[in-house]
Amino acid sequence: MIATKGYAAQTKESALAPWSFQRREVGPHDVQFDILYCGVCHSDLHQIKDEWGGSIFPMVPGHEIVGKVVAVGAHVTKFKVGDLAGTGCMVDSCRVCESCQQGLEQYCLVGNSQTYNGLEQDKKTPTYGGYSNTIVVNEDFVLHIPQNLDLAATAPLLCAGITTYSPLRHWKVGPGHKLAVVGLGGLGHMGVKFGVALGADVTVLSTSPRKEADAQKLGAHHFMVTTDPAQLEAASGQFDFILDTVSAEHDYMQYMTMLNVDGVHICVGAPPTPSAMHAFSLIIGRKSIAGSSIGGIAETQEMLDFCAEHDIVSDIEMIDIKDIQPAYDRMVKGDVRYRFVIDMATL
Ligand code: NAP
Ligand code: ZN
Ligand code: ZN
Repeated sequence: MIATKGYAAQTKESALAPWSFQRREVGPHDVQFDILYCGVCHSDLHQIKDEWGGSIFPMVPGHEIVGKVVAVGAHVTKFKVGDLAGTGCMVDSCRVCESCQQGLEQYCLVGNSQTYNGLEQDKKTPTYGGYSNTIVVNEDFVLHIPQNLDLAATAPLLCAGITTYSPLRHWKVGPGHKLAVVGLGGLGHMGVKFGVALGADVTVLSTSPRKEADAQKLGAHHFMVTTDPAQLEAASGQFDFILDTVSAEHDYMQYMTMLNVDGVHICVGAPPTPSAMHAFSLIIGRKSIAGSSIGGIAETQEMLDFCAEHDIVSDIEMIDIKDIQPAYDRMVKGDVRYRFVIDMATL
């Protein structure tokens, strides 16, 4: 076994604290890489606090992981020692179901293995995430990280990046489309960058007036404050697509009014509480509400290559791992600019 250092929550009430644990030896198809940076996703906080239910403790969060390969198994063909490597939200899946066959491992019908707060495909070995110094992952779930991008700023692409890229590609968002991104946080700021790169006319819908200048710097064409009734009125019927990244309870029907005929409201934000929806908010205008989960492995590599080509990375604030709690506190207040990334050298 490989002795590993990390930060873990022991229960849903406890704060993250140093914890030592074991990872499996490098198997024939495994890659071991030392973790240099790990992004901090709002999902980490939802799960440590068990807001979605079913959390497994002790929990080592982190699924925006990048680093350098230190060992490869005998049958590994895709990586060699010294390569840059990354892992996102999944470390395995069944490989044989219809979804897996289509490269949609995120929708594995048997259940994929989440990078943390999950179980390996044996359905009994718990997984531990990227707030740690090293990780062992089957090579099929390890991504190649482009050389030309800043490594720390690349980490958030593994979740915030793919989660916003995948739906924009699925719904073929591009030139001639009006896209609204709701919530300017980790996911939202990546949604803006991708929307702009794909040629859409992008509006940020935010509760934070102070983020307007940042939205413009990120490339957004318009900015609206959703707490201002006059601005909401002006947004009526405006958008072809709304990418909703909000982490907390909010009124979906309010956003339906902003969709044009045939408009689609895409939920990627995952508030812990259910919401009510009146059928008429969809019927009038033939509107849809949809959801999307991260992206498959091949699509994640496509997204990384797209970022390399378009020079896209996340805007990050680097933190020391001992400052994780203040970072969470700021995240809850919507005060993230626009992703915290842990410098794992501080572990
Ligand atoms: P984040 O950085 O905290 O950003 C969320 C943003 O939502 C905030 O910055 C804020 O933006 C807005 N917001 C927060 N509370 C709000 C409220 N009560 N009403 C309206 N807006 C509010 O979080 P994140 O890491 O981007 O994650 C966002 C959500 O996506 C989380 O629920 C996370 O679990 C989920 N997620 C889903 C997937 C997936 O596969 N579907 C993957 C990753 C994450 P403004 O200040 O601009 O209003
Ligand atoms: Zn995430
Ligand atoms: Zn499967």
